[in-house]
Amino acid sequence: MRVMKFDVAVVGASPAGLSAAASSARTGARTVLIERELASLPNANTVFDGMASAACLNVDQFSLHQVRGMRLVSPAGHILEIDARGHFLDRKRFYAHHLNFAADCGAEIIESEVRSLSRSSDGMELSLSRGDVIGARIVIDAGGVDSRLASSLGFKPMRHPEDVAWAVEVDVRHPGIGEEDRFEYCVGSIAPGWKATFSPAGDDTATLGVFVRRHGRDVQGFLDAFLKRFIKRRVDSYHGMERMKILETRRGGDPIAALPGRIVDEGIMVTGGAAAQSGLAYSMRAGAICGEVAGRAGLAGDASRKRLSEYSRRWWLELGPEYILGRASLETLRSMSDEEIDRLFLSLSGRNLLVPGGLWKKSANAAFQLTRAMPAIIPRFLLNMLRF
Ligand SMILES: Cc1cc2nc3c(=O)[nH]c(=O)nc-3n(C[C@H](O)[C@H](O)[C@H](O)COP(=O)(O)OP(=O)(O)OC[C@H]3O[C@@H](n4cnc5c(N)ncnc54)[C@H](O)[C@@H]3O)c2cc1C
Repeated sequence: MRVMKFDVAVVGASPAGLSAAASSARTGARTVLIERELASLPNANTVFDGMASAACLNVDQFSLHQVRGMRLVSPAGHILEIDARGHFLDRKRFYAHHLNFAADCGAEIIESEVRSLSRSSDGMELSLSRGDVIGARIVIDAGGVDSRLASSLGFKPMRHPEDVAWAVEVDVRHPGIGEEDRFEYCVGSIAPGWKATFSPAGDDTATLGVFVRRHGRDVQGFLDAFLKRFIKRRVDSYHGMERMKILETRRGGDPIAALPGRIVDEGIMVTGGAAAQSGLAYSMRAGAICGEVAGRAGLAGDASRKRLSEYSRRWWLELGPEYILGRASLETLRSMSDEEIDRLFLSLSGRNLLVPGGLWKKSANAAFQLTRAMPAIIPRFLLNMLRF
């Protein structure tokens, strides 16, 4: 059995893990990134410019297809269009780039599964499936929504784990389908609690998926219903739409509304999906903050909870308000019937929902438009804000 020593060990080459490993290594801390299957790619593929720039992420060079905005579709088919430039990413190139970047920054990359995590006299100890043991002052759990590393040490990194959205997404092929210029989000009973999506990927490919909250992990039935509805809506636009080909299926959890719980303890930090920091861009930003704090603490030989809490504080200050607003919005949507959503869409039609500016300007505008369109939902939204 080989024992290897590092300042910081990152578990999981998730978007958050890749960026945590790079920023830890950049501080000069001896850093290792451990991933059980380097050939598998994380799920996320769609990102909007607003989020990417807030997360200091450059995505243009990985864009397979650019869109000019999103189309929101209500249960009865009413439409709201929002302009916001976005990209469908070449996942292979994007994640390979970030893996190489972590290695270039000095992180050692190991392909193996972490079987267990325990505390030792001089820090943390990770046992790997290939038989090695890794000793590290600080472990970063970036192993995604199903990671059990933090809970094996007795703490809960997600505040509302029951609110993870379970997703199934398919890559599809049909002549011209990837050339559309808007992402599409359908809401209401077609995907309770959140959304069903269409993301054009350029040329003849796109993805279709459902993200469902509080209906268990098996959401295939919702996808089947969504595919039928999607084909029906597009049948006049594309010849032979009924023969649209499904190429690949992906499943997983997206903790969009789950909110972080305790994400730091003595010698351990949690980031990305494992800490309910959902979304490609924002989870990479969370990983960057986490890795930087871990690297500096590792070099200083101080893995105390107090020292590592700088990560939690910085995350809540920078990104926390958006996640709280997001959860309150999704909880309000979850409480609305299809008829209420249809009425809301009709009243909002033609109004400018997205204005340029920071989070508070955007939120104030959205709140103003919502209040004018459907005053009855405002108390529900405020209650959900208070209940975070
Ligand atoms: C189907 C689907 C589609 C999505 N699409 C988008 C999108 O288009 N845009 C967007 O912004 N967000 C999207 N999301 C959300 C997004 O993927 C996540 O919120 C975000 O990328 C964070 O990833 P993650 O932390 O969940 O990690 P994951 O992507 O789940 O990665 C975790 C990694 O850790 C590794 N790992 C776990 N345990 C161990 C262990 N014990 N030892 C070694 N390795 C381990 C796994 O192999 C895996 O590689 C999507 C989510 C799903 C489920």
